[in-house]
Amino acid sequence: MANPVTVSHDVIVIGGGQAGLATGYYLRRTGLDFVILDAGTAAGGAWRHGWDSLRLFSPAGYSSMPGWPMPARAEPGYPTRDDVIDYLTRYEARYALPVRRPVAVSNVLQDGTELRVETDHGDFRARRVVSATGTWSRPFIPDYPGRALFQGRQVHSAHYVRPDMFGGLTVLVVGGGNSGAQIFAEVSKVASTTWVTVAKPLFLPDDVDGRVLFERATARLRDGPGSAPVGGIGDIVMVPAIIEARERGVLKSVRPFERMTEQGVVWRDGGETAVDAIIWCTGFRPALAHLAGLGVLEADGRVAVAGQQSMKEPRLWLTGYGDWCGTGSATLIGSARVARDLVPRLQAQLSRPA
Ligand code: FAD
Repeated sequence: MANPVTVSHDVIVIGGGQAGLATGYYLRRTGLDFVILDAGTAAGGAWRHGWDSLRLFSPAGYSSMPGWPMPARAEPGYPTRDDVIDYLTRYEARYALPVRRPVAVSNVLQDGTELRVETDHGDFRARRVVSATGTWSRPFIPDYPGRALFQGRQVHSAHYVRPDMFGGLTVLVVGGGNSGAQIFAEVSKVASTTWVTVAKPLFLPDDVDGRVLFERATARLRDGPGSAPVGGIGDIVMVPAIIEARERGVLKSVRPFERMTEQGVVWRDGGETAVDAIIWCTGFRPALAHLAGLGVLEADGRVAVAGQQSMKEPRLWLTGYGDWCGTGSATLIGSARVARDLVPRLQAQLSRPA
């Protein structure tokens, strides 16, 4: 039995991380009546769950939200996890964005000319919905044979906090992106650590940081795929911790194991290694379960979109999940660009006669 509908809005944004806030910044300029529903207990989105030493891989100037550049840091170095949380917290207040939290959305349904948004704080209705729930709540771990047998500790990077949790242990770090490289660099200082990557990791040159990745994303956005050298957000930015690991002579990885056992792993050559812990830095999947009621989820777990608009349910828009719903949309700078393009198109759709 649906809860009584509490309120109705022109637009409901689901998710109050950077993608939701950037969308809110542009909605605020339209005069449309909107609200941002966020399951978090405080501002900052997934940044609230980043590990202690996590830093952006780009300078503040390349990590800004619309309207207010990220303040430069007093000390040298790229912004830390806490800098980003502080920035997003102040950003919300600066623009008085209508964020209601904690409000967890469980389902979105067609309801006549509107969409019904079911939450743990009653139901809402909206003429349009923007889903910006990110990926953090859906960590991905590959299904290696025997994984259920393994008796050691398993932690996904989403829940990794700091290296001393693994001091003196034998550890595998699995995953060849920025998370895997950064976590391997610090855990390898306190534990006997092996880095496992599907292919040889792609390191950017030392003097190249996340700016280049964003410039490449911009070029692809402006000039189309193939217009910029290969290289995406997964290429490893040589932040200081990774340079230090290279200078320590440990920055090398091995190809994946065949299967897992109670004590550890069996490699392709048949050799076995007993392992105390595995840290899975194997990425995330879009958190879209709340959209199941709309019948828009595809077999690959995504939503078929034209730009950011659902093709099966045109009243639904999406942002922040990765390039498939807007180039760089899963980055700070990218989410700002995508919001700038999404909101005028949503507003135009609303002003057209139904
Ligand atoms: P999130 O930050 O995940 O926000 C989603 C919000 O939606 C959350 O508040 C959540 O509580 C809420 N939510 C989820 N489900 C529901 C629901 N059902 N109902 C209501 N609310 C819900 N990007 C960069 O630009 N530079 C970097 O250097 C960088 N480094 C990164 C390092 C790591 C380790 C990771 C994981 C990502 C990094 N990113 C970086 C990528 C990206 O900026 C972050 O993942 C960012 O958190 C994405 O923002 P978002 O708003 O899309 O999602």
